[in-house]
Amino acid sequence: MKILVMNAGSSSQKSCLYEIGNALPAKVPEPLWEAKIDWTHQPNVAELKVTTGKGELKAELPADDRPQVIQQLLQSLWTGETQVIADPQEITVVGHRVVHGGQDYHSSIRITPDVKAAIDRLSALAPVHNPANLEGIEAIEQFLGDVPQVAVFDTAFHAQMPDAAAIYPGEYDWVEKGIRRYGFHGTSHRYCADRVAELMGRNLNELRLITCHLGNGCSLAAIQNGHSIDTTMGFTPLDGLMMGTRSGSVDPSILIYLMRQEGYTADQLDQVLNKKSGLLGISGISNDLRSITEAIEFGNTRAKLALDIYIHRLRRELGGMLMSLGGLDGLVFTGGVGENSARVRSAACEPLSWLGIKLDPHQFVSREDTLISAPDSATSVWVIHTQEDWTIARDCWEILVNS
Ligand code: AMP
Repeated sequence: MKILVMNAGSSSQKSCLYEIGNALPAKVPEPLWEAKIDWTHQPNVAELKVTTGKGELKAELPADDRPQVIQQLLQSLWTGETQVIADPQEITVVGHRVVHGGQDYHSSIRITPDVKAAIDRLSALAPVHNPANLEGIEAIEQFLGDVPQVAVFDTAFHAQMPDAAAIYPGEYDWVEKGIRRYGFHGTSHRYCADRVAELMGRNLNELRLITCHLGNGCSLAAIQNGHSIDTTMGFTPLDGLMMGTRSGSVDPSILIYLMRQEGYTADQLDQVLNKKSGLLGISGISNDLRSITEAIEFGNTRAKLALDIYIHRLRRELGGMLMSLGGLDGLVFTGGVGENSARVRSAACEPLSWLGIKLDPHQFVSREDTLISAPDSATSVWVIHTQEDWTIARDCWEILVNS
């Protein structure tokens, strides 16, 4: 079966096409076709890039006609240099990453008018992402007709979090209003948990794991009985760890102070906390850890401070997840930083040495998923290359095969 994955973010739309036979393959297969729209390439100009084993396509298109750009992306599947299928009818199912599934969706689900209405309703909680996800679903209806579609929610893996972890200690009204911790990056945390259980040769349901998704966005999940029981992101993906451009948790009174003393509006605070904070805000250089570490080598003190805060916050939140679990069988690093930065992994694990958790000093990490703990470490530590698009494709396959 041919499975199209649509992963729409705030500023980009990534897509890929997988082919899966009668059984799920043991290893993650290469997609037949990959495409990306960068909606903010230039003012009013979107860039479309498509790559396949055979050819490539690059085009600049008017960004204001979004359906037209998505149509071009889809057409590149069956026309021109990048053609990989003869006819759109060959696509068996389309899987969408949907950021917010609220409290009702604990797993991936076939999209119906009710599911669409729920995604639309939840746009109030994810105003940038859910409308983009809905736009992708409607584009598929428009251009591919009534092909089955599946929603894979970022929040689903955390949906069984206990109330004590999920409910904020504000007014009780908040609970009724849906103001609670939802957690995000669920597809990545779930993939990493499944994968590490497989590599450990253990049943996921008997493991206590912490997965550290450290990319441009960062979150930790404490995993027990195969699902998340605590996580650092909250009502929105702004809570928790310091990130590339997001602050993570700050004292809410800072916002009240800025509103009262400096006249900040809600939109300005949104911009500051989401786009101008984190590694970028403190270093003044970049949201990219590679540029930060390079600047540290040249003696840049703000870059050093940015990394120091990043590590401090990571250690502090790791401690929190550890206490929520009450023990640990495996620690996983993933995401661009987690997979590539031995410096961050070592610094994060250093205070865990009193629990007997030790990294292999060489930490050789290949393109394969790798065990990086020392042979005598009390708990195994892993680098797992997260595969969110593959997880979406796998969910589509399972839903279709079992329906
Ligand atoms: P992601 O959001 O998972 O794609 O991660 C993107 C981030 O990973 C970048 O902004 C960098 O901060 C970080 N990153 C990627 N490659 C490296 C590397 N080789 N060393 C350190 N950080 C990296």
